[in-house]
Amino acid sequence: MTRSRASRVLVLNSGSSSVKYQLLDMRDGSRLAVGLVERIGEQTSRLVHTVPAGPNAGTRERTDPVPDHGAALKAVGEELARDGLGLDSPELAAIGHRVVHGGQRFTAPTVVDDEVLVEIERLVPVAPLHNPANITGIRTARALRPDLPQVAVFDTAFHTTMPEHAARYAIDAATADAYRIRRYGFHGTSHAYVSRRTAELLGKAPEDVNVIVLHLGNGASASAVAGGRCVDTSMGLTPLEGLVMGTRSGDLDPAVIFHLGRVAGMSMDEIDTLLNKQSGLVGLCGDNDMREIRRRIGEGDRAALLAFEIYVHRLRKYIGAYYAVLGRVDAVVFTAGVGENAAEVREAATAGLEELGLVLDTELNAVRSAEPRLVSPAHARVAVAVVPTDEEREIARQTFALIGNTSTGKTATGESHA
Ligand code: ADP
Repeated sequence: MTRSRASRVLVLNSGSSSVKYQLLDMRDGSRLAVGLVERIGEQTSRLVHTVPAGPNAGTRERTDPVPDHGAALKAVGEELARDGLGLDSPELAAIGHRVVHGGQRFTAPTVVDDEVLVEIERLVPVAPLHNPANITGIRTARALRPDLPQVAVFDTAFHTTMPEHAARYAIDAATADAYRIRRYGFHGTSHAYVSRRTAELLGKAPEDVNVIVLHLGNGASASAVAGGRCVDTSMGLTPLEGLVMGTRSGDLDPAVIFHLGRVAGMSMDEIDTLLNKQSGLVGLCGDNDMREIRRRIGEGDRAALLAFEIYVHRLRKYIGAYYAVLGRVDAVVFTAGVGENAAEVREAATAGLEELGLVLDTELNAVRSAEPRLVSPAHARVAVAVVPTDEEREIARQTFALIGNTSTGKTATGESHA
């Protein structure tokens, strides 16, 4: 086997009705192909495949029905093969899979075998919306290339360094233990990548900086990262806790749930749907896209303005909380769709916090760029930064590091997340 020469990693992010993928060459970090299969199982399935550079550069689209994940991966393999990048290529070193929930067991990327799959399945009750699709993706990829290392990279792993006082809820300890109720945190791959890139941007080692990461996409989470290790994060048992999100409520008094059950007569499933899908920005004003909300605010729409204010207020509370958790903060960094693009959110979230050392440079904040950058003045005590996230690249990096470092061990226990 000449696997030592192979340098490509295929990253798969399998959702319930979609598969996102990227093929990266780890020798130079180049992106060879990226794509998406969506509406799997429907008649209107669609595959969009893009080769970003080189002689085959361009985008192709397929609209033939894709009945299941097996067919999706087969179609992805066919598209890659058309560009000479097929799944059977000896250049392919491994397949890295995003797995949302790794519980307490998976603290690092892990080569998947039967026992690991059973463990990921055991976590389905705490991640019913995500882990089943991730498992299907892994099984399908294994069937296609049983000889290749399949590596699971967990959204929760970066947060497993949280101390118990941050990870546990103040509920009956025996009940919590029996049902594995604790704060796991999510978006960990993004928080790991962005906090490390922020240290690079500051010209420092990750061990030397304390960072508050604000991942503001449709889902949103904050984390406090001390010297490269996560010490607190805003999502909890599930991705519902914490910040106001596109469709999720984030923090609320748990008694709201009893009230909805007892007084409004709603079922558990109805309350689940309300809080996960009909709340957050969409619940407050009917839109979850920050661009649309800003447009409406410009037209004097009061519901949109209130939604924006509630969103920003929660964000500011977390910045303050994590400032206190960390004691000393070197940088506050914004990432994901809203964090990278919405200058108004960055401005409102940091306004009036000069006493904490947080100052924005209005001109730098207005610049649109895909590059990591500072949006605070050079002399500021706390840097404010925008660092575009790249979860696929981080999954590929961790996957490649694991298979390069371990030939027998299953878990990269020595893997640094920093
Ligand atoms: P996710 O990966 O959680 O689906 P993203 O990180 O892609 O989400 O973020 C999507 C969100 O980013 C959109 O819902 C929208 O609110 C916001 N967004 C994207 N582009 C812009 C923009 N130019 N200005 C403001 N907000 C934006």
